[in-house]
Amino acid sequence: MVDERVVRVYRYERSKNGRFEKFSQGRWQYSDRFERAVQDPEFVDISEEEANKLIREFALNFVLETNPSAWPSHCLIPYPVAFDSQIDKLGQALRLANTDPDKGRNIVKSIDSEEMKRWFIDVALKSGAWRAKYSGVSGLDVKNSRQRKVISQKRLEALFERDKWRCRYCGIRIAGNRKHFNKFAKFISMPELVSGRTDESRHGLYLMLMASYDHVKPHSEGGSNDDSNLVTSCWSCQFGKYKYSLKELGLQNPFEREPEALGDWCGLTL
Ligand SMILES: [Zn+2]
Repeated sequence: MVDERVVRVYRYERSKNGRFEKFSQGRWQYSDRFERAVQDPEFVDISEEEANKLIREFALNFVLETNPSAWPSHCLIPYPVAFDSQIDKLGQALRLANTDPDKGRNIVKSIDSEEMKRWFIDVALKSGAWRAKYSGVSGLDVKNSRQRKVISQKRLEALFERDKWRCRYCGIRIAGNRKHFNKFAKFISMPELVSGRTDESRHGLYLMLMASYDHVKPHSEGGSNDDSNLVTSCWSCQFGKYKYSLKELGLQNPFEREPEALGDWCGLTL
């Protein structure tokens, strides 16, 4: 039987729209493997671990390939365009949170959490290391984990506001931070949206739409804790970068692009 996760990624390859279309041109070398994966039962009789590895290799190879000059410079890896319609659904649920929370909850439950989770864990989190590997950045030279000063909730919200509630790197609409998620989950009585202590046990929306802040110039390199050095960042972009600098990963300074609002999206503010 074909691992449903393999099929899921296979569908990415087949998708003909949006960002994936852009990145699919001339990059079909992996489709033969997946034709086989669908048709040849022996080929797909693989362990969960191997399937995970295949998916990671496939997605990273498919979207990024191994040529640094072809990589996007605004973010590590573009998130799947299909997530936008899932976030639209979250927006619908949010509008119903006060008046019809049950309906709101049902809408959130119809969102494909698993697909978002798999993308986050298998692809997004590995994208920085992938870029570092193929751009020849030494693994020995990475910085030590830096000390992050906690910034206040008020300041954080002002930062999200300034950045139009979108990640300054990949542009994904962000929900807010833990406080925003908790409040919304309470409103629609959906504790599973915020439960879980590990990535595997967390909801896909939580992983993909959680926002934090990122120091554009790292603290360890003298970067300040001022707003002029902080940008809103989704977890994918923040943790995907790992300990590498923007330059090491071939990323543009996000301050060179103005944040743009997307509709009336302002996160999970109630
Ligand atoms: Zn992002």
